[in-house]
Amino acid sequence: MSVEVRNITKRFGSFTALENINLTVPDGDLVALLGPSGSGKTTLLRIIAGLESFESVEGADILFKGASVVGNRIGERRVGFVFQHYALFRHHTVYGNIAFGLKVRRGRNRISRKEIRERVMNLIHLVQLDGLESRYPDQLSGGQRQRVALARALAIEPRFLLLDEPFGALDARVRQNLRRWLRRMHDEIKLTSIFVTHDQEEALELADRVVVMNRGRVEQEGTPAEVFHKPKNEFVMDFLGNVNLFHGRVESGRVLIDQSGVVSRDDSNQKRFFVRPHEIDLLPDNVDGLGLPAKISRVQLAGSIAKIELIDIVNKEIFVEMSHEKYSIYKFESGDNVYVFPKNSIIFPEDYSI
Ligand code: ATP
Repeated sequence: MSVEVRNITKRFGSFTALENINLTVPDGDLVALLGPSGSGKTTLLRIIAGLESFESVEGADILFKGASVVGNRIGERRVGFVFQHYALFRHHTVYGNIAFGLKVRRGRNRISRKEIRERVMNLIHLVQLDGLESRYPDQLSGGQRQRVALARALAIEPRFLLLDEPFGALDARVRQNLRRWLRRMHDEIKLTSIFVTHDQEEALELADRVVVMNRGRVEQEGTPAEVFHKPKNEFVMDFLGNVNLFHGRVESGRVLIDQSGVVSRDDSNQKRFFVRPHEIDLLPDNVDGLGLPAKISRVQLAGSIAKIELIDIVNKEIFVEMSHEKYSIYKFESGDNVYVFPKNSIIFPEDYSI
């Protein structure tokens, strides 16, 4: 089911937590709301769920599958919610927790014990907790508890799923495993889902679409590749990964950078160039008088790529990443003097810089 957010503004007293948010989540997509602490992600999620009100400005609306749900009770919205702290019922088993929302049904929504059992056992299988149905929450690991929370949210057959920092309380390795598991599960059940995270890696790895938020606004929305490779502004570029900032200008098709001595810092034609660490070459010598002189301060070879930190002549840090294969050509070490060659940079129009 698609979800549409139109002209949503939210104020807490004089503080504006969300300003004119417009967003469409296509049916069956897994969408990440990504942004720093306080950017309004949770508030937006709560408004979609119906747990929070919003300002009644012209055109403000929340639509599920094209129909407004403003005024609907929370139960009618049929939203599955998973919080950072699993909030399981401690005195219920895994089975009891997942079955809870089904057992409390009354009237025409009531379902038989047999049906409940069938549905719960299917969910236990889906979240890969077979054999653990009689355990209590404190007999489970953090990752297992979070999977119970997810199964419990799915038990009511929600029209879509909202997840607020679902893996936030887990350690890095468990987080990564659960992330992949959630992605596979989503591919299987195709339930429209929105999850909140402040972890860019998590958003880029897991989501079909990423909504980058900052100070109550949407800075950019797009596929992970779009927001990463075509950031709309400096905030998005910076938030989605390490980035190097150079000052310089373009002359005869060449980027001339300040520290090379060609352009001074107070040159009024200066531009700001943003370069990702993997878009930089390092050479032992300059080429045609070009290249930024810098000294290597640290080399980190553990991991799938080589990470190199440098200090330029004005003591600014530069971060470079390259394959181990490429690293093995010169085998740079800490203390080496080298030349830095940005290969690909992004310049933002002035009105986009923040
Ligand atoms: P985090 O990643 O830290 O959870 P977030 O992006 O989810 O942050 P929100 O929880 O949506 O941010 O909060 C957005 C802003 O609104 C914050 O500055 C927060 O202090 C403020 N805020 C949230 N709820 C309330 C409230 N009930 N009363 C006053 N201010 C609030």
